Amino acid sequence: MTGIPEKIIDFHVHLFPDRLFDAIWEAFLKQYNWHIIHRCYYRECIERLRRAGVSVIVYSNYAHRAGIAEDLNRWNEKVLQEYEDLYCFAAYHPGDDHALDMARRLVENPKILGFKLQLLVQNFYPYDERLFDLYELVIRKNKRILFHTGTGPVGNPYVGLDPFMKVLDRFPDLPATIAHLGAHEYAGFMELADRHPALYLDTAFCFLPAPYEGYNLGPGYLEKYKSRILYGSDYPNLITPWEAEIENLLKMNLSSEFYDRIFHDNAAALIRSLTKA
Ligand SMILES: [Zn+2]
Repeated sequence: MTGIPEKIIDFHVHLFPDRLFDAIWEAFLKQYNWHIIHRCYYRECIERLRRAGVSVIVYSNYAHRAGIAEDLNRWNEKVLQEYEDLYCFAAYHPGDDHALDMARRLVENPKILGFKLQLLVQNFYPYDERLFDLYELVIRKNKRILFHTGTGPVGNPYVGLDPFMKVLDRFPDLPATIAHLGAHEYAGFMELADRHPALYLDTAFCFLPAPYEGYNLGPGYLEKYKSRILYGSDYPNLITPWEAEIENLLKMNLSSEFYDRIFHDNAAALIRSLTKA
């Protein structure tokens, strides 16, 4: 396969209100010395991705502290109304007084596919009992959770395979998407797909050009789990050009079925199954 694929669904985009984007870009610079190269706000993000050939955009945002999820989700509801072919994983913080009431309202919106939990930033365990009602709601309403639960780019006590497996012990059918292929514990997270049929993984930030390190298991694992992998870019929070990860994936010379599935078909089928009436 050569060239950027004609049909792309991007399952890992971030859209935030302008002020929060500014704060996040400053935090990346301070914490990781990451210079975000596409500092554009939400409308421009959507336009740029569409111009690059991305048809459907699935974005998320998260509440870095208690008290902001409600406003963030009002903003999400407004943005989702503005655009076709735009879906969202909404913000949630278990420390909010009316978190579950808010979630119950949001799951009625067909363009909200579920919730994003960013455990590296939000600082709670995935098996925190305050989340159990949310998990039950998500399972009951055919929604999903997008987890940042890997130890990349850095770890904390809340991320990693061990704490995540405790959630699956209790909720083996949790419809979870593991961002970044579970980086840095790629094998462990990918192998969870063998036992947990509702589990997917996304590719965001795993195929950066040198000197960045990323996915390191070779083509075998990618082909083996190709029905469970979704392409994601992390746009606009990128530190290398948008095309670079796609080109690196293409350079691996995987099967055309792999590329069809991860760039489009898996996501299309998943969105269909989540939005059917
Ligand atoms: Zn992300």
